[in-house]
Amino acid sequence: MRTELLKDICQTLEQVGVRPTHQRIEIMKYLKEHRVHPTAEMIYSQLKEAIPTFSKTTVYNTLKLLEEKGVISALATDEDQVRYEANMTPHGHFKCVKCGALFDLNLDGVAPPEKELDGNLVLEWQVMVKGICSCCRT
Ligand SMILES: [Zn+2]
Ligand SMILES: [Zn+2]
Repeated sequence: MRTELLKDICQTLEQVGVRPTHQRIEIMKYLKEHRVHPTAEMIYSQLKEAIPTFSKTTVYNTLKLLEEKGVISALATDEDQVRYEANMTPHGHFKCVKCGALFDLNLDGVAPPEKELDGNLVLEWQVMVKGICSCCRT
């Protein structure tokens, strides 16, 4: 299981021409194992415990590189926080206004917009639903 994940990460990185260094692998692994859409800050503070040589700059640079290469995606949220994820299958998001949690939403059955809207060409669309999550409701 662990080696499968590592193999998968190395392959993904090699496919886009990124050398799979230890730090890049650790960041990818963290994102794949923690589907909470962490910020760069969260990733840094978590990984620093396991790998004391990790620097904040490395984390920011690596996330930028991986995003440019299209192996992770960055979500801008309304608190000016950028959150990252390695789940590249199309999905939407649910944001809890009480606890701040950000969940994946299944978009099966939701029709994507037309290729052109009001004369504008659509390249990408994002679904962000806000509300109160089931934990906070109880
Ligand atoms: Zn909540
Ligand atoms: Zn997501």
